[in-house]
Amino acid sequence: MVLTLKTKVSELSGVGEIYGKRLKKLGIETAEDLLLYFPRRWEDFTKITDIAAVRAPGSYCIEGSIWSIGNKRSARRRMSITEAIIADKTGTIKAVWFNQPFLIKNMKQGDEVMLAGRVENKFGVITMKSPAYEKKSDRQKHLGKIAPVYNETEGLSSRWLRYQMDKLVKVIYSFKEYLPAEVIKRQGLITHPAMIRQLHFPENSYQLEKAEERLNFDEMFLLQLAVREQRKELDKNRAIAIRFNEDLSREFTKKLGFTLTNAQKKAAWEIIKDLGKPVPMNRLLEGDVGSGKTVVAAMAALMVASDGFQTVFLAPTEILAGQHYESLKKMLEPFEITVALLTSKTAISPSDMPAPSSVIPAEAGIQPDSNSASKSAQSQKAKKEEVLKQAKDGEIQVLVGTHAVLKEDIEFWNLAFVIVDEQHRFGVKQRAILRKESGKQGTMPHFLSMSATPIPRTLTLSVYGDLDISVIDEMPPGRKKVGTFVIPPEKKEDSYEFMRREVKKGRQIFVICPLIDDSETMELKSVTAEYERLSRMIFPDLKIAMIHGKMRPDEKERIMNDFAGAQRVAPSAGEKERRGTHPLREKIDILVSTSLVEVGVDVPNATIMIIEGADRFGLAQLHQFRGRVGRSRHQSYCFLFTDNQSETVQKRLDAIVKTNNGFEIAEKDLEIRGPGEVLGERQHGIADINTKNLMNAELIKRTKTEAKKFLEKNDLKDFPLLVEKIQKYNGVANLE
Ligand code: ADP
Ligand code: MG
Repeated sequence: MVLTLKTKVSELSGVGEIYGKRLKKLGIETAEDLLLYFPRRWEDFTKITDIAAVRAPGSYCIEGSIWSIGNKRSARRRMSITEAIIADKTGTIKAVWFNQPFLIKNMKQGDEVMLAGRVENKFGVITMKSPAYEKKSDRQKHLGKIAPVYNETEGLSSRWLRYQMDKLVKVIYSFKEYLPAEVIKRQGLITHPAMIRQLHFPENSYQLEKAEERLNFDEMFLLQLAVREQRKELDKNRAIAIRFNEDLSREFTKKLGFTLTNAQKKAAWEIIKDLGKPVPMNRLLEGDVGSGKTVVAAMAALMVASDGFQTVFLAPTEILAGQHYESLKKMLEPFEITVALLTSKTAISPSDMPAPSSVIPAEAGIQPDSNSASKSAQSQKAKKEEVLKQAKDGEIQVLVGTHAVLKEDIEFWNLAFVIVDEQHRFGVKQRAILRKESGKQGTMPHFLSMSATPIPRTLTLSVYGDLDISVIDEMPPGRKKVGTFVIPPEKKEDSYEFMRREVKKGRQIFVICPLIDDSETMELKSVTAEYERLSRMIFPDLKIAMIHGKMRPDEKERIMNDFAGAQRVAPSAGEKERRGTHPLREKIDILVSTSLVEVGVDVPNATIMIIEGADRFGLAQLHQFRGRVGRSRHQSYCFLFTDNQSETVQKRLDAIVKTNNGFEIAEKDLEIRGPGEVLGERQHGIADINTKNLMNAELIKRTKTEAKKFLEKNDLKDFPLLVEKIQKYNGVANLE
């Protein structure tokens, strides 16, 4: 058999059917695949230690002859144990292996061997546990050198993998170099085949270092190339250049009733400048919850409207769409901009007068008799049609909606601007529809995505490096820091006391129940149980409601609106009399919820956020929850309930307690959970990238500079091998 890179692993001796299957699970089918399966880490077995110098616990490589070796059975666990005594000129040591009785066929008394592995103190006897072993008469594959350690999943041991890799050494040099020679030269890198060889069979620590350098460089360099190429594609599109109306922008800020923060001004200006260009903006507006992103977006929409074009503003939920509609209307109507709302259930056209105080029709919550229900359904349908028609005719200048907007086959008169709040909730397909929407003049709308989930700065540099990001890293003045505390079980009682006092003051409380195994049924159970417990045992005198994913959307909305609607001004004396000791008692004091409330709901009167099982959430998510409170002049609190006292958990939660800075928290989260988890749906090819590389600012800078230099003088098309390599990052940094 002629061995090539394309040789099937199943044809290699010693692989067979069982191992073939295990390899296939890892996506390894050919010799090439196997060689591209790189070690996780390396163990330095170059240093041989005298047996007398071995100390437990620790990892050592020793050399000696076998004094004795034999198998025995452990009575209790019916396990085979191989025991050996090894001696060198300084002393003896015991070694044990489990369930490998065949070892005695290979290693016999008197054989000269090398052993390497962990040494433990077992009841006073210093023992090497399952060490790697090699006879000195064999060519050394594992010991006496730096040995690769592979991910030992799926029943594949490092020892077995080393044997297989060893057979493939000969074909390593068939790997083609894909990096351009000039890059290799400028960066002082070793070649691709040399890297593969050194990763599996490191000659010495310097060569291994060079191999790792090449591996890491490639990972980030390819990513940089992909990102730049995608940007180039995007910049080929045309968009409507929006004129900046300076007077109007001044008037807008004057009417706000507060001064924009410097960060808001800067972001607004960046957006307005982008809008003025004939290429579509593709910008992410990042800012912590409450940093005031909506105002900035509204100002941009005002510019677009005043220049005669349409804006659509999308929110991930009905509730949020309703809130955005209300606030945009308030901000834009003084300028005679027409604002409308369209969700799957509600439609409000600009001609509807007067604006209802809540977007939810008052009767929605109460069981309406079937007659009026169908009547209101009918009028909603007509309303929707009216809104759709007005969008098409250009009568609506700013349309706020949920993704339902995309489902209706909506047409616009001249859509020029798309704003998407918390964009990760939208599917790629839906966004593609919107992109197409402005089709009329063959242009693409400008695209602004807003998110309160900060991307760690290093990721911004690496993955999003060449996309545009505006950051609002400053809170409006007067916001109080949310007091955050980790509460162990024995302190829970005290917190309940504290909660009661806050409610007495008229404040409201969120209680978040933990996510359970991603199971909605389990989650429902835990929310229900918590609701029952709180309303029966702890706070029977307070008004408690619950909300979860299994509820009908209109039920959820009614509850959210009841909760949000309870803006408690101290009741007047007369009112107190009427209502007794429970002012506005029909309103909700405590809302028990699943992670539903995560996304931007605004209930300024809520001042306490309780998170049950806080250890089960990611840091960024906890930070999001906390952002639900602290939205008014009242001091707010976030209590992290957990009965997990482990050090890692405590350290993680401590990060939340100590900082209010979303970016720092995001970096911590990235470090702990890796990029796939942190970026969620944005991940694409990045999930596979080594987190360390994504956080390595120096490497990012180096690869960015090189990518720029290389692309200035070259066209990627002339490097087909390179193009092939960057395919896997396609779509990585798309803001869609
Ligand atoms: P988010 O960034 O979470 O979307 P919002 O845009 O909803 O934040 O703003 C939160 C609240 O802060 C709103 O009530 C808004 O009117 C108010 N706000 C925004 N900017 C400022 C500012 N510069 N000064 C004072 N209040 C502000
Ligand atoms: Mg918001």
